[in-house]
Amino acid sequence: MFEALGNKLQDILDRVGRESKLTDAQVKAAMREIRMALLEADVNFNVAKDFVAKVSEKAVGQEVQGSLTGGQTVVKLVHDELIETLGGESKQPTLKTDGNVWFMVGLQGAGKTTSTGKLAAFYKSKGRRVLLVAADTQRPAARDQLEVLAKQVGVPVLKVNDGETPQETRRRLDEYLKTDYRDLVIVDTAGRLQIDEALMDQLADLQTELHPSETLLVVDAMTGQEALNVARVFDERVNLSGLIITKMDGDARGGAALSARSVTGHPIYFAGTSEKLTGLEPFYPDRVAGRILG
Ligand code: GDP
Repeated sequence: MFEALGNKLQDILDRVGRESKLTDAQVKAAMREIRMALLEADVNFNVAKDFVAKVSEKAVGQEVQGSLTGGQTVVKLVHDELIETLGGESKQPTLKTDGNVWFMVGLQGAGKTTSTGKLAAFYKSKGRRVLLVAADTQRPAARDQLEVLAKQVGVPVLKVNDGETPQETRRRLDEYLKTDYRDLVIVDTAGRLQIDEALMDQLADLQTELHPSETLLVVDAMTGQEALNVARVFDERVNLSGLIITKMDGDARGGAALSARSVTGHPIYFAGTSEKLTGLEPFYPDRVAGRILG
């Protein structure tokens, strides 16, 4: 889809001629194409509409500068606005000296458990003392999967038992930390196939007990349109602080990143780029915008 958008913008380049100022008609023609391309890239309809409205406002009457053609001026505006919408600068989650508790939340299959392992590897390599908490009691194999990942990374894991209350989990975590100092605790929480109230209640209860300093939503880049709803509901119910977009190595529907970021306003910290533990990269809005433009 990134290529498709790039091609569309090439069309716009051809279409919008060499004028000194961008006219209303030129901008309209260009924006129609951009909106189509965004929709094809699976950006949510309303997000695409808002995006186009913002760029149009800036584009009409804009001087065509120096050696740029009108088309190139539009492309630059779109590029800049894409970077802005994707979050501007690359950002990292907040890390205090100690007492960091991070929640990983998301739908089943989004890549939550895998991303938890990847974060453990990433921060261990930066000298952090990481503890993983396997609290995904929904998906049968999730706790074992996290244990395997923890072994590979070389960090300990605390497994939540079936039917354990959040208070009990809090108590067991406190006990654990008394005997083995850890400055970053990453909790792999329960995910379900679809958003449901019981899941949200469960997460909210655990949040009340553990007071995470970051609540990170793991979003599958391939989910396209659905990413917006998922991000909105999780944000409403468990106050997200940031996002991780997985499976950017696939036929990456970058639209999911754009939608999820723009509906929540929270930064995308990382992109998942493979199934391996090393497949995690900081998210660079400018690079992704560049990819979108082909
Ligand atoms: P969870 O249910 O959210 O915990 O999902 P998992 O962590 O089990 O991941 C679901 C599937 O997606 C697994 O097969 C993972 O290997 C795969 N996966 C997770 N992240 C990525 C990624 O960034 N790229 C690719 N290609 N696959 C991923």
